[in-house]
Amino acid sequence: MQQPFDFTGMDVPEFPAGMVWLVGAGPGDPGLMTLQGLSALRRADAIVYDALVDERILAWRHPDANLEYAGKRGGKPSAKQRDISLRLIELARAGRRVVRLKGGDPFVFGRGGEEAQALVRAGVAFRVTPGISAGIGGLGYAGIPVTHRDVNQAVTFVTGHDQSGDAPSAIDWQALAKGSPVLVIYMAIKHLPQISGAILAAGRDGATPVAVVQNATRPDMRVLETTLAEVVADVERHGMGSPAIICVGEVVRMRQVIDWAGQLEGEKPRALDPLGSAPPAADAS
Ligand code: SAH
Repeated sequence: MQQPFDFTGMDVPEFPAGMVWLVGAGPGDPGLMTLQGLSALRRADAIVYDALVDERILAWRHPDANLEYAGKRGGKPSAKQRDISLRLIELARAGRRVVRLKGGDPFVFGRGGEEAQALVRAGVAFRVTPGISAGIGGLGYAGIPVTHRDVNQAVTFVTGHDQSGDAPSAIDWQALAKGSPVLVIYMAIKHLPQISGAILAAGRDGATPVAVVQNATRPDMRVLETTLAEVVADVERHGMGSPAIICVGEVVRMRQVIDWAGQLEGEKPRALDPLGSAPPAADAS
């Protein structure tokens, strides 16, 4: 079988007919997909993919593979979750090698758990290949480490939508705003006024740094640095849209030092130690 490179040295798992792989495609940049995911994509004869999966990743599929779009856009019930799970089961029972390709990591706000549950119920063999989640890798491309010693020893991943597409009702913003030094919010653009308002109402300082990273890891990535008090107006002013990851917390200041993508384009670091936490420079006596 045609392969983009030799997988020797990697323990490539078996992919027999009738099996489903839930594969994370990563946040966008095709280079961030795992080798195991790629090995599955090369062998699959049916690929069911989501809206946020990059075309260049899909182009790595086997030339004879059948491609099916199962994306949901903007909360519209275009492809119901139940229908997607049933389709995976149907394809597997027809003896296909099925890759269910999802943006980021399948188990991070990706409903991969529900699909796995349906496969278990149906008695279909499956495997999970994790991916780089946008809330970690996407922020990494923006030069923001989700944890930084001395500033945050915890980080919370939050969704800005609940099942119905409304602002999530089950989240205790009071507790999160107080207890979690860094909040990484997925799907936050639509309900941003409510979300930022809830975090402010819970007592978080309006001057808290916030980053909005749109199209993270893609060629058209945009990063907005703002504050909790200003984020709604700034997102509007700069026309930021989905998909975007929002990071709230002091750690956002680290971008002033480690915006490596900007520095590769010739920008200078704006600060060297914005959190006052740097180890002594290597040349210090
Ligand atoms: N399973 C995915 C998340 C799916 S939910 C993961 O682990 O990353 C979809 C949300 O993920 C989007 O609304 C957005 O908040 C975020 N997201 C996914 N890809 C992104 C990207 N390239 N840039 C910014 N945000 C992204």
